[in-house]
Order: sequence, then structure tokens, then C-alpha cells
Amino acid sequence: MSIESKRTSQELRVGERFLGDERFALIAGPCTVESREQTLQSAAAVRDAGATMFRGGAYKPRTSPYAFQGLGQEGLRLLAEAKRVTGLPIVTECMDARDLDQVLEVADVIQIGARNMQNYALLREVGRSERPALIKRGFSSTLDELLLAAEYVLKEGNEQVILCERGIRTFETAYRFTLDLAAVPVLKERTHLPVIVDPSHAAGRRELVAPLARAAAAIGADGVMVEVHPDPARAICDGAQSLPTSALAELAEQVRAAAELVAGADTLLAA
Ligand code: PEP
Ligand code: MN
Repeated sequence: MSIESKRTSQELRVGERFLGDERFALIAGPCTVESREQTLQSAAAVRDAGATMFRGGAYKPRTSPYAFQGLGQEGLRLLAEAKRVTGLPIVTECMDARDLDQVLEVADVIQIGARNMQNYALLREVGRSERPALIKRGFSSTLDELLLAAEYVLKEGNEQVILCERGIRTFETAYRFTLDLAAVPVLKERTHLPVIVDPSHAAGRRELVAPLARAAAAIGADGVMVEVHPDPARAICDGAQSLPTSALAELAEQVRAAAELVAGADTLLAA
């Protein structure tokens, strides 16, 4: 009896970094870009932990229109500086096709957030760009719907798509969303696209992030994306689920060990 390797996806090159195939990726950074100091401190810690890419939102999809909406263009400038200083590729969200040109100036990977997973006009525009796209599963979307969202990008000729499970809405209220880890092997059965997991938005609280990240790595995800902040208590958004940047190196060790459990995979953090 052979044990099938769960990590056989298309390899994607992002700058000098790789994701997919046998490379396990760790993407980390703050929920949102808040200030120059917070951004550069976070990015340095993410680099020092040996992570693959730096994440951070300049445009934030907030449930309330009165909540902080992100620094916008100024946030993009800070991300560009973080990239210059650390050399890390940048993952950042584009919420509106009208902002895409600006976002493309700094984003190595364009994030489509859960709330925009079915924004077909945006998906099409991102499909016309040549930049890798990270599509987060809508929190009430089926896996079929996620795969069809990816098809919108692929259909325009952009084959560099990463899928991200980030928790779905269920009756359970003990955590923010329910992380659907079964999505990982099911998506891998159905597609060659790399599949990553965001335990931070699923959990809503930092105590759950490391165990969920380890589980994601062990079930065969191609990477995890986590929120970190130099001082989570003072974060403008999602502080409760953010790990302190000082915890990231240990998390990196843990997920690397868990990823190595996957049968047949010779996994390395894709530095
Ligand atoms: C995020 O990753 O910054 C984010 C807003 O997540 P989601 O779209 O999954 O809610
Ligand atoms: Mn967040």
C-alpha cells in the first residue's frame, strides 16, 4: 500500500521565494499597516524568523464602515519600504479593481479577501495582471465556489493562483470562524493549485493560532499565513488573534516540524 503524498501542487515562484510543490511557505505580518515603525519592525521580525513572505493590508475590508479602513496609498508606500529593507516579497489585498494598478506597484502577491471572493470584476482584472493571486475562501462559500473563483483568474491567462482556507461560519461561537481543515486535502484532490491556511482569522484569538497552524501543516497545506504584531495589545485591528512578533521564530520551527510529518514530502520553509 502506498501512502500518497499530499503535497503535490504546482510550484509558484514569487521573487526569490517559492511556494507549492515541496516548499512549505510561512507568510506573516500584521493585519494592517499602521505606521512606519510598526511595519518595519514587523517585517524585520518576519525576515529574521525565516518566513517566506511579508503580509499586511493597506486597504482593509472592515465589517463596519466606521472602523479603520487602512492607510491606502501611504500603506502601500510603507510596504514598498519594508520590501526594500528586508527583501521579502509582499502579500497585500486589493479590494477594488480601480486600485489595482497602484497595488501592483508593490504587491508580489495580490490578495483577494474572503469578502471579495465572488467579486468577479476584480477577479477578472487580477486575472489580466501577471501577478500571483491569493484567493481567500469566502466564509460562507463552498469549495466549488472557491474553485470557480480561481477559474475567473485562470481563465484570463493568469495561472498563478494560491487558494487559502481561512475559516467558515458555522453555529459554533467559541472561536471567530470554524477552520475547515478538510478543505485542504479535498482541494488538493481537485486542483494542482497550492493551498494555504490562515489560522489567525479562523481562530480570532492567538492561543489557537499555533495549534491550528501545526494541524494545517500536518494535513498537507502548502503553507500558512499568520498575523503578527510587535505589540498586539495596541494593534488597530485583529490584535486578539495576532501573535507577538517575538513568537514567530518558534512558530516557524513548529510548523516546519509538522510539515515534515506529511508522508513523502521533503519539506523546507521556502526561504
Ligand atoms: C486579511 O487577511 O487581511 C483578511 C481581511 O482576511 P479575510 O479576508 O480572510 O477576512
Ligand atoms: Mn486581520
